[in-house]
Amino acid sequence: MAHIRIITENDQNGWKNNVPNGATNGNCPICVSWEDHWKKFAKCELPECSNKDCHDKAVLATHLSRQGENGEKWIAPLCENCKNKTDEFSLDKGAILVNADINESCRILEIIKDL
Ligand SMILES: [Zn+2]
Ligand SMILES: [Zn+2]
Repeated sequence: MAHIRIITENDQNGWKNNVPNGATNGNCPICVSWEDHWKKFAKCELPECSNKDCHDKAVLATHLSRQGENGEKWIAPLCENCKNKTDEFSLDKGAILVNADINESCRILEIIKDL
């Protein structure tokens, strides 16, 4: 799997929040917050919410997964409302997702740093 994923029209649909209704999102053990985890790979500040139908400012980065993808988890910026969504939604074309598996993302950076 890749560190980051850019949403295209082929994988826009069928996303779900893994921690809806304000459930705790935990923290990345290396980056501390999932916002920082996202920023480290996206290389920018939190943008607009990743939900295609929403244009509010993202306030956090949280876990999403897509139907039929074996539970792979991705970190995406969402707004205050969308972080609580329990139903499926579509993501913006061009939305940047960061792999939520630290062995596929920030842990690799740490290893490179130590070489
Ligand atoms: Zn991280
Ligand atoms: Zn939103």
